Amino acid sequence: MSAPTGRIDHFINGRIAASSSGRQQDVFNPATGAVSAQVALASVDEVNAAVASAKAASVSWGETAPLKRARIISKFKELLEQNQDDLAAAITREHGKVFSDARGEVTRGIEIVEFACGIPQLLKTQFTDNIGGGIDNWNMRQPLGVTAGITPFNFPVMVPLWMAPVAIATGNAFVLKPSERDPTPSIMMAEMFSKAGLPDGVFNVVQGDKVAVDALLHHPDVNAVSFVGSTPIAEYIYTEGTRRKGAYPLRVQALGGAKNHMVVMPDANLEQSVDAIIGAAYGSAGERCMAISVAVAVGDIADKLVEALIPRVKALKIRNGMDNEAEMGPLVTAAHKAKVEGYIEDGVRSGAKLLVDGRGLKVPGFEGGFFVGGTLFDHVKTDTKIYQEEIFGPVLCVVRVPDLGAAIELINANEFGNGVALFTSDGNTAREFSRRIEVGMVRVNVPIPVPMAWHSFGGWKRSLFGDHNIYGEEGIRFYTRYKSIMQRWPETIVKGAEFTMPVAK
Ligand code: NAD
Repeated sequence: MSAPTGRIDHFINGRIAASSSGRQQDVFNPATGAVSAQVALASVDEVNAAVASAKAASVSWGETAPLKRARIISKFKELLEQNQDDLAAAITREHGKVFSDARGEVTRGIEIVEFACGIPQLLKTQFTDNIGGGIDNWNMRQPLGVTAGITPFNFPVMVPLWMAPVAIATGNAFVLKPSERDPTPSIMMAEMFSKAGLPDGVFNVVQGDKVAVDALLHHPDVNAVSFVGSTPIAEYIYTEGTRRKGAYPLRVQALGGAKNHMVVMPDANLEQSVDAIIGAAYGSAGERCMAISVAVAVGDIADKLVEALIPRVKALKIRNGMDNEAEMGPLVTAAHKAKVEGYIEDGVRSGAKLLVDGRGLKVPGFEGGFFVGGTLFDHVKTDTKIYQEEIFGPVLCVVRVPDLGAAIELINANEFGNGVALFTSDGNTAREFSRRIEVGMVRVNVPIPVPMAWHSFGGWKRSLFGDHNIYGEEGIRFYTRYKSIMQRWPETIVKGAEFTMPVAK
């Protein structure tokens, strides 16, 4: 499956749709800094065309037997596997992450597709025979019709696959608005869906920016929007979307940003903790919503932890993502690089101790790339910007606390609650921490707590707006409406009207 080159357009009603909006934006290769393509930015009319195509397709798709839907999704899974390297190369070219990490992203996306293949079983609901008087009661979950997804740059394959397979398996049509910074994989996946036999219009892609997002949010035929991105935009999507009135108010799940802590207890295995921190803080250049950006060193482990981290951060192999040796690639854009460097400057001004400074890094042969080296701050105070805000770059802050209680208090006071990790060798500490921590995804002695496909993903507090987590069974609930049905087929039901609350007889 070859990636589109030069110009990246929409995919509407089963084919590439050249944009006539007259608006477009450059897409960069972050390793070289060069423009690699132009992406179209949709007009409202183009969004309307995608929604109309989805609406038309949703009727017969919603009536298609779940087993038939599952077979098409299973074929899509095979195509993703066959094209995994091409997809991963497209991710590396536009996002910058290293190729092996990009392959891993595709694998995590495929797992959601595998989950969606079980849709006949997943849609099986409950039946009560004879609740009384010859009446049976059961429930079913029905599709919503047109659903939409708005996704971030940092997982251009995995995050769309958190949404689309589940929405489509449950019988909906789907409109994807991917990030304008790395749009190519969206078109590659659209072509794979078509090749797998998905009817035209069930999966559409509109490239674009705020204009496209607002058009989706306000379109009366869009019944559900899944969003993943930064907290300010998530809050906007949730507020704006749920304000919409109508027969079916818009259903919204909006996953936002993060500031993830890893607590290292004095009894933790130091070597394992350091390995875990290095991978989780600097993997994908820190551009992961589950990246560890704060190491909370408890008691007397702090000095040993910091001493062990310094040489490892300095030794990170920062290269072009297609280099087999690379451990970390560039940041996504020049603007993001400048933003991350601004945070480092701010951290220095705040009085935190800068132990490794990643600014000014030049990678030989890739001098135009958007690289920032691994950066490490110690003695970070909680009233500083580098502690409070999501940096989304390869910058780790070490905060020192005296005991477990102080670590829990610190994390619970943070406005985000996406993921957290604890490193310890004590079971009671782990149990106490897991129960008291106000964070949606917790791991003990495991660095990045991304739940598997059949569990569901989502944070607490300002990391998720809405009632449902994403994918897994929560995803099935989000993309369907619950209906309860009661039936009686007696020989005669004419007994006169009943005015009291019906109770089992
Ligand atoms: P972003 O919020 O800038 O963009 C996300 C999407 O929103 C994109 O499709 C973008 O086009 C659109 N968008 C941008 N500005 C908009 C506006 N003003 N109005 C309407 N739509 C707008 O996020 P990003 O920079 O692409 O991605 C990084 C962020 O995503 C980080 O904050 C990261 O933590 C978060 N993220 C969260 C999760 C999670 O599961 N909680 C997962 C991945 C990424």
